[in-house]
Amino acid sequence: MPTIDALSERLTQYLSHSQIKQVCRAYYYAEQAHEGQRRRSGEPYIVHPLAVANILTEMHLDHQSLMAAMLHDVIEDTGIPKSALATQFGDVVTDLVDGVSKLTNIHFESKEEQQAENFQKMAMAMAKDIRVILVKLADRLHNLRTLGSLKPEKRRRIARETLDIYSPIANRLGLNSVRMEMEDLCFEAMYPMRSEMIRKAVKSARGHRTEMVDSIAAAIRNRLNENAISARVFGREKHLYSIYSKMRDQRKSLGDIMDVFGFRIVTDSVDDCYRILGAMHSLFKPVPGRFKDYIAIPKTNGYQSLHTTLIGLSGTPIEIQIRTEDMEAMANHGIAAHWLYKSESDQVSGTQRARQWVQNLLELQKNAGSPIEFVEHVKVDLFPDEIYVFTPKGKILELPSGSTAVDFAYAVHTDVGNHCIACRIDKQLAPLSARLQNGQTIQIVTAPNAQPNPAWLNFVVTGKARSNIRNYLKTQRRSESVSLGERLLNKALSALGKTMEDIDQAHIDLVLKETDLVTIEDLLEDIGAGNRMAPLIARRLLVANKDTDIDLHAFEASPMAIKGTEGLVVSFAKCCSPIPGDPIVGHVSSGRGLVVHTETCRNVEEYRDNPEKCVHLSWDKDISSEFTVDLKVYMENRRGIIVEVASAVNQADANIEKISVEERDARLSVTHMKLSVQGRKHLARTIRRLRTIRGVSKIVRTRNPKEKS
Ligand code: MN
Repeated sequence: MPTIDALSERLTQYLSHSQIKQVCRAYYYAEQAHEGQRRRSGEPYIVHPLAVANILTEMHLDHQSLMAAMLHDVIEDTGIPKSALATQFGDVVTDLVDGVSKLTNIHFESKEEQQAENFQKMAMAMAKDIRVILVKLADRLHNLRTLGSLKPEKRRRIARETLDIYSPIANRLGLNSVRMEMEDLCFEAMYPMRSEMIRKAVKSARGHRTEMVDSIAAAIRNRLNENAISARVFGREKHLYSIYSKMRDQRKSLGDIMDVFGFRIVTDSVDDCYRILGAMHSLFKPVPGRFKDYIAIPKTNGYQSLHTTLIGLSGTPIEIQIRTEDMEAMANHGIAAHWLYKSESDQVSGTQRARQWVQNLLELQKNAGSPIEFVEHVKVDLFPDEIYVFTPKGKILELPSGSTAVDFAYAVHTDVGNHCIACRIDKQLAPLSARLQNGQTIQIVTAPNAQPNPAWLNFVVTGKARSNIRNYLKTQRRSESVSLGERLLNKALSALGKTMEDIDQAHIDLVLKETDLVTIEDLLEDIGAGNRMAPLIARRLLVANKDTDIDLHAFEASPMAIKGTEGLVVSFAKCCSPIPGDPIVGHVSSGRGLVVHTETCRNVEEYRDNPEKCVHLSWDKDISSEFTVDLKVYMENRRGIIVEVASAVNQADANIEKISVEERDARLSVTHMKLSVQGRKHLARTIRRLRTIRGVSKIVRTRNPKEKS
């Protein structure tokens, strides 16, 4: 059984005395925390973290990773809070432990392949420090080694999850020995019979094969000697899971696979690799089409080697891998090779090593002159600028980090984005602007009449969301402007006793030419947006009509009706807050369309009678929307009076949008309220209710001429 003393002894190979002491301290802390807990096998729990640390020691991982390994189940299983760990062991180790716990807590359910790949990415992205992944992989590896004491069903679930998520991650990081051990253990857990069958077959074949292997190896060594190349030559066997996969995927019989003899030749330089290849091809005949140069074009995880298949004596196929010692180390340990072989630079952090590793892959790929898109793949995984979140149905979406629920909605579908009104993050209601985190489940609430809000542009990060919102607002604004423009122009024409029907197309074309516009819609849009004055255009159209005698004030046309639902091109001035029932005028202002003021508003005083700038308006008969109005209520400073005011407003079916109280003296105070009401009658009803409150002395509807309309 492994002990902490044995581990400390091993650590002297590459850690300093004080670092080893810290690892031991983490061990004793964990031992105490897990006191009394046992594993399913009956052993004390601490055996597990110690074993995980041992696995990481083989990769020569640093003392912080080993401390995290010791403590990795403490938060999860003993109820000791994160803050307590931070005080004891500092933030770096605590973050590593926390990262491992988070990964442990996410459960993978779907079986889809695409899903599995995204899940792998999510795991990588969640672990901001690559060492989190390494600790997690070691944790999983030890759990697989001790699967025996679990029920078969649980064994199978863990094995399935490992094959879907963790062994592919090990593969991406080039941790080949970890990957192969995981695969064999999973294979055994999922298919005990098949695994046993293959194990036996391999064992018996090995007996028959020894002679053959020895003679081929001897032939290879001989040939290398003749060419004066020094290299290690050894026979290799496929691991059980890869034999099984070959049988399953390539429909080969066990015999077919076992008949192939595998060798590896490891030498010092790349140059020698190619010389050895030449020597081998002259020793035995190569099988055409089976040669692969992974030195020139490395695999995506940095794997480099020459592969070739030869036909030996009596037709035996021989597969040969040729590589340098460095490539061999990389092939077995991948990213961990950077801890194993570069430990002299102790100051280098986990992230920096990961960066070095990616850098190496980049170099490799650059030298090979082949596309580098694969590195993008790895890079994204290691330096997360992506986040991965779930849809309510468990599908995983990839988004740039910093994305919000609105980005998510547009990523699901443009329609979902255009109609979203609220969201739930992990079942809790959250603002649409909330930044999403890895692993969250997002549900979007939509309403058929909802529209994108221009304010969303302030927080969305994806191009898709941004361009869709802009586009929607643009088309929306255009169609609203066109229809407002049409109404304004009709009104201006009718003031002159004419309608659009009185005007020839030829004259419209003439005006379009003058104004440099293409279609009548463009012209109407310009009028609606307030860039051109309807009366001027009306006159131009009529003058072009040679209908010259026109007096602008001759006809008092019926005012244009406002519904309050015109959208972005009609707005209500904040200075006078008009509500239905108030006499109103519209001020056409450039780029903003029509701004509605009360007739008595001081801000429109100067141009109220100028028909080029102001339009007479009336309220439509059926208005269902609500309007804001400002009230000042003078009242006694009496306990509970504000509650009475609020409930009176409520009883009158009006809404308080904002309320603030300003004290006059000990006895009197003034309350400012913003109410939303349907119109003047509704307001009058509300005020009547307020008057009945004891202590309310005066109620005034206020204007704020200083507020920008
Ligand atoms: Mn564990």
